[in-house]
Amino acid sequence: MRQIKGRVFSGARPTGRQHLGNYLGAIKNYVALQDEYDCVYCIVDLHALTTVETTENLRQNTYEMTLDWLAAGIRPDESIVFIQSQVPQVAELHLFLSMVTPLGKLTDLPTFKEKVRQQPHNVNYGLVGYPVLMAADIILYKANAVPVGIDQAPHIEFTREAVRSFNYRYHTNVLIEPEIKVTEYPNIIGIDGQRKMSKSLSNDIEIAATPEETKARVMQMVTDPHRIRRSDPGNPDVCNVFSMHKIFSSPEEIAMVNVECRRAGIGCVECKQLYARNLNQSLEPLRARRTELDRHPDDVWDILRDGKNRAQAIAANTIEEVKEAIKLPLEK
Ligand code: SF4
Repeated sequence: MRQIKGRVFSGARPTGRQHLGNYLGAIKNYVALQDEYDCVYCIVDLHALTTVETTENLRQNTYEMTLDWLAAGIRPDESIVFIQSQVPQVAELHLFLSMVTPLGKLTDLPTFKEKVRQQPHNVNYGLVGYPVLMAADIILYKANAVPVGIDQAPHIEFTREAVRSFNYRYHTNVLIEPEIKVTEYPNIIGIDGQRKMSKSLSNDIEIAATPEETKARVMQMVTDPHRIRRSDPGNPDVCNVFSMHKIFSSPEEIAMVNVECRRAGIGCVECKQLYARNLNQSLEPLRARRTELDRHPDDVWDILRDGKNRAQAIAANTIEEVKEAIKLPLEK
């Protein structure tokens, strides 16, 4: 039986088909957390609106991401999986929280300044309020903990401050300060061997790719740059293929590559073929579940609808408590 420690909230933008970086860095953790927490997993489409150039693929991307989450092992009968914009109370709470958030605090945030640098042509109001919306997401569902990498911890600290400001202003304790659950996320480097795996950098490997596509992407992976010829000894410590072997290959294979690479006993082609085979084997059950789920798209949308209903029930309750705490006039 599950020993539930509390509620976890996490959100991710609808980026479509997920890649290995998403899978190893977030989704696997989402799946594992279900054993200890009530989990609320949100597809944050409203957040995406602050930066996307076009919304043309928003629905399809939401669907594809949901498929990957479910296929990876998120259990919708236990966890709440839903789309942010379908629970309008988040916009209400965002507004209430904005009243207790100093503007300077938002414009001073390094993440805001970075966005201004990235898209000077589109410094919209939503970008300024981004952390407030994020705080509203977490607070609305009364999450006790939020799993984040250490670099994201300031955002959760911002949420905690928003809770304290609100509770102080309205002499209440209705909102809950979430704990920061710092999680070790493996840094998955893309096939370019240099930058973090990212769809926008086209250096990714999709988890739902076919075995052939996967192998083709693996064969493009950059290896030890000093190993030019097959006869050159390599250094697995600087090779991204070896990093991935450590995740997907057996201890014997990892040991073999570690030794044979250094004395040119194995070539990069052979080494990549081995990794591609192991990667495909490891992802095979996920891909089979995904194909099955994809046969019934209506069922996937039903899961999201059910998630929305369950999320809304929590959200409606929180908003009622919030309005009561603020002493907004109630309907007679
Ligand atoms: S043999 Fe394998 S670990 Fe060594 S450089 Fe080539 S791909 Fe990397």
